[in-house]
Order: sequence, then structure tokens, then C-alpha cells
Amino acid sequence: MITTLKKYTIREVIEGFVYNELEGKGLFGLAGELTIQPEYQRNYIYASDGGKREQAVVESLLKEYPIGLLYFNKVRDNALEVLDGQQRITSVGRFVTGKFAVKDANGHEQYFSGMTEVQREKIMNASLLVYVCEGDEPEIKDWFKTINIAGVPLTQQEILNAVYSGPFVTRAREEFSNSNNSLVQKWSAYIAGDIKRQAYLECSLNWVSRGEIDAYMSKHRHDHDIAELKSHFIKVIDWISGVFTDVESEMKGLEWGRLYEAYHKQDYDPVEVSKQVRELLSSFEIKDRRGVFEYILGGSQDTKLLNVRVFDEPTKKVVYAKQTKAAQTKGESNCPLCTIGHDANHEKIWSLSEMDADHVLAWSKGGETNISNCQMLCKTHNRAKGNR
Ligand SMILES: [Zn+2]
Repeated sequence: MITTLKKYTIREVIEGFVYNELEGKGLFGLAGELTIQPEYQRNYIYASDGGKREQAVVESLLKEYPIGLLYFNKVRDNALEVLDGQQRITSVGRFVTGKFAVKDANGHEQYFSGMTEVQREKIMNASLLVYVCEGDEPEIKDWFKTINIAGVPLTQQEILNAVYSGPFVTRAREEFSNSNNSLVQKWSAYIAGDIKRQAYLECSLNWVSRGEIDAYMSKHRHDHDIAELKSHFIKVIDWISGVFTDVESEMKGLEWGRLYEAYHKQDYDPVEVSKQVRELLSSFEIKDRRGVFEYILGGSQDTKLLNVRVFDEPTKKVVYAKQTKAAQTKGESNCPLCTIGHDANHEKIWSLSEMDADHVLAWSKGGETNISNCQMLCKTHNRAKGNR
């Protein structure tokens, strides 16, 4: 990879700057030679926090502070793309084209056009340091990860979009990075994260590629259609909403792609499922409410997914002491299940550390996690009984 350090003035960089209000991004600079926010990049987000970030960029320039290194990628002759620095360049471009004002020393709002000639020249002549890089993909990818430490860090998917830019990413973003898509509302029941920061695109790619996003994007980079990506995504969404007819907040961000792979061939009765979901979600005994969905899909077997409430130490000690005292009086084991057997453990007194607490009436049958429903079993019997 070749990197060259170059110095541009702001005047040069923002020559021909256009801000697209509709898409929320800065488009071109360097008189058209520079693509500021390529199709695959994230949208402009500096204006979103009430404009504090973009104002800070301009204030730095006015104080003649540096605004940090910028990184451009040389795509071909006379064609550069901004790898890092879109937000800063767009801030300056928006300011110079009158899109926002900054407060001056006296607290007055100042637009660029209202500034003195001297101030305007100070901004336009400020220099920007730019690393221009040329190289193959793995190199740029690696480098991109390294520089991705300043400013608002890029998400993993934003980096991949940059690395595998092309018609596929462009089409995929139109579908999955567009907050105006009318289906986003429905999708947001199951997908966590910010659509603008590529969370939905990442999710769709993760599902279709079974977690191999990198490889999938590389393979499809030059495709002009996203049919497979789109149809798989819709299949998963339809499957979820078909099995679980009620939308619950606990569903958001679950590993639906994996659950689809594991369970979509099985039949479920949505009415029955809906009843089970409501029951489990209203149970005080379940600590991991997000585990409810996979638990049901798996046939209500794997209670580990629910992280059922356990008996606390004082309860165990009290029950242990009571059981042991009674057992010693009778001359039999303090594990009630051992007393039933006829082996050597019939009369064995287990120590506390050799025993586990068990629900007399299983929680799944409505048994509560309190002292009146607690018995101590030896570890072997407790394991054999399972967490019914
Ligand atoms: Zn036992």
C-alpha cells in the first residue's frame, strides 16, 4: 500500500461541495474529484446531537486548532474517496454553505456569510492534512481498522461496507439502511440497533450468510441484485411472526437467524405458543426472559435458557439443618431420595456441600422458589431429577 501525506486548504477540499438534505450527506469536494460520502458510507451524523459536533469542528478552525488527520482512498486517477473524515469535511462544507451558525465570543449566532472577510479567509485558508492511500483490499481494510479510533468509531458493518463497496452494497443499503422503508417498523420488533449505523443490514447479512458476513460480501460484491439476501431475510421475519404472533419487547435482538436455522422445519401451533409465552413471561421465577422464545421452540425442555430463580444460601442452610436433624433421628439418609433406595447411601448423611436445593413442586408446575417449596437432595439425585 502506498500512502502519501498531502496538504490541502479547506478552500480546495470543499470546492464544489454539495449537501444532499434528503439523504443527509455531503457529496463532493475538490471540484468533483473527491467523493465525500460514498454510497456505502454512513450518513452524516454530526448534526444529530443538536449540532454540537459540527459546531465544534468550526470552532476549532476559528481558533486555528487542527481538526485531525483525514484519510482519502485513491480509487483511480482524479478520483478520491474519503475513508475517514467525512463528518468533519461535511461539517465545514455545511458551515461555509450557510447550513448552520456558530456562536461567537459574545454568544451571538454567526453564519459564515455574516463573518468578517478576515474570519472567512482564516477558515478557507486553514490547511487539512490528508493521508492518501492506494492499495489492495486487505491492506486498506486493515489500515481502516487501525485508523478507526478517532471521532465517532465506525461500526464493524460500516467498515465492511467500505471495504466491499460496489453495486451489491449499494443495493443492499437501499433496502436495509433506509429508515424510510415502510417495513422498518415491523422489523424493529426483532432487530436491535440503529438502522443508520447499519444494524439492519448487518443482521440481514448475518442471517443469509450464517454468520459469515465477510465472505458473503466478498463473494457477492459485484452482484447487481440482492434477491437472495432479501428473500432470506423476509423468510426469517415471516417465520418469527408466524410462530410468535404477539410482539414482545424481549424478542428484540435475539439470534433469530440461528433460531430459524435450528427450528424452522418444525411445526408450532401459534395459539398454543402464544399462551406459553404469556405464561412464562409473567412468571416471577424466570430470570432470563429473553430465553423464553428459544425454550419454547426447543419443546420446553432446556430450562437453562430461562435461568430459573434459585434458592439462596440461608434458605439452603435452614432446610439442610432441619432435614439432617430429622434424618439422624430416624437413622436414615438426609437425602429423601437416597432413603428410598437400598444401596449403601440408604443411611448416608451428606454434607451441605454434597447437596443441592430442589423445588419440591417444580417451578414449571407453579412451584415457587421459597423455603416452603425447598428440599435438599444429594447432587446425584438432584441431577437425575433435573430441573423439571
Ligand atoms: Zn440422594
